Amino acid sequence: TPLAAPTDTAIQRRKTRSVPVGSITIGGSYPVAVQSMINEDTLDIDGSVAAIRRLHEIGCEIVRVTVPSMAHSKAMEEIQQRLRATYQPVPLVADVHHNGLKIALEAAKHVDNVRINPGLYVFEKPKSDRTEYTQTEFDEIGEKIRETLAPLVISLRDQNKSMRIGVNHGSLAERMLFTYGDTPEGMVESALEFIRICESLDYYHLELSLKASRVPVMLAANRLMVQRMNELGMAYPLHLGVTEAGDGEYGRIKSTAGIGTLLAEGIGDTIRVSLTEAPEKEIPVCYGILQALGLRRTMVEYVACPSCGRTLFNLEEVLHKVRDATNHLTGLNIAVMGCIVNGPGEMADADYGYVGKQAGWISLYRGRDEIKKVPEAQGVEELISLIKSDGCWIEP
Ligand code: SF4
Repeated sequence: TPLAAPTDTAIQRRKTRSVPVGSITIGGSYPVAVQSMINEDTLDIDGSVAAIRRLHEIGCEIVRVTVPSMAHSKAMEEIQQRLRATYQPVPLVADVHHNGLKIALEAAKHVDNVRINPGLYVFEKPKSDRTEYTQTEFDEIGEKIRETLAPLVISLRDQNKSMRIGVNHGSLAERMLFTYGDTPEGMVESALEFIRICESLDYYHLELSLKASRVPVMLAANRLMVQRMNELGMAYPLHLGVTEAGDGEYGRIKSTAGIGTLLAEGIGDTIRVSLTEAPEKEIPVCYGILQALGLRRTMVEYVACPSCGRTLFNLEEVLHKVRDATNHLTGLNIAVMGCIVNGPGEMADADYGYVGKQAGWISLYRGRDEIKKVPEAQGVEELISLIKSDGCWIEP
C-alpha cells in the first residue's frame, strides 16, 4: 500500500462561499477548479464546440468564451445545444467586454456564468485635469452603474447562475484611477463597488478576479481583496491569474509565481494560466501547480535528484523511461535517485525508489525498505514488476 502523504503540511484554504458554475462549484470545500478560454470566434459554432470539447476532455473544468456582440451572444445557445447533443454540458462562462446590457442578458440565458469587467462600466466624461472625483460624483456614477447592472444581476440571481466580477489592472475606470491611482486599492475598490450593488439585490453567487500582468501587483491586489473582505464579513471565492504572461518557459514561471504564491497562502479557488499558446497548453500547467502544492493529485509525483559526480547511471534517460512506463499510475510517488549516498534518505516519502547501488546495479525500494538489487539493464522492468506484485499497477 502506498505510504500516506504527510498531512500536517497541508495548505489551509481560506473559507469561502460555494458558487456554482454549471456542474462545477467554486470555493467552499471544493477543489481548486481549472479553467481556460477558447480563442475561436464564437460565431464559428463548429470550431467553438470542438475547441470547448478539446479543452474539457483534457481536464479544463470551466471554459470561457468571448461574447462581443448580440450575434455572438445568440450563438452561445447553439453552442450549448450542440455540446449537449454531441458531447455533454460543459460549464461555460461568457466574457462580456463592455456594459452592453442586452448582450449580457442574452448570454446569461445560455451560459452558467457571466464575466463582467467593472472598468468598462464607464459613465463619466473624461476629466482632463485628473482631479479626484468627489463623493457626490462617485455616488451619481455608482447609481448609473447600478441601474445598468441590475437587470443582469436579477436575471442571474433568478436562474441560480453566477457572475464573475473580473477587475483588470490595465482597465480601471477613470474615477477609480484618479481617486486611488493605478493601484491594488483601485482594483479592490472597483470590485467592492460591484459587490455592493449585487448584494443590495440579494445576489451572492459571485466570484472575483483581480488580474495584472505584473506579479507583485496581482499578489498585492488579491491579498488586499481578502483583507477587505475579511473586514467586511464577505467571503467570495477568488479566480487567480496573471494576465499577458506570454509564452514558453517564462510565461509558465510568471504564472506559477503569481498563482502559486497565493495558493500557498490559502488564497484562490479557481485558476487560469494565460499563455500566448494554444489553450490546451495551459491545462497541464494548472494541474502541475496544484499538484506541486498538494492541492490536487492528478498525476504521479516523481522525485528525482539533479544528478552529480556520484551518479551511477544516465539519470535523465532513466527518469524518462520510468515516467513513460508509470505516468498513468495517478496517486503514486516514485523516486529516481542517482546513488545511495543521499538517495534513500531524500526519497523517504516515495512509495517506490529506483536508486543507483554500484556501477551497473540498481536498488529498488518500497518506501524505506530496500527490496532487491537488479542489473541496471533490467531496472525499469523490475520496478514495474515490483509495483505489479504489490497490486498497485493498472494497465495504461
Ligand atoms: Fe548526487 Fe547521489 Fe545526490 Fe543524486 S542522490 S545528486 S547522485 S549525491
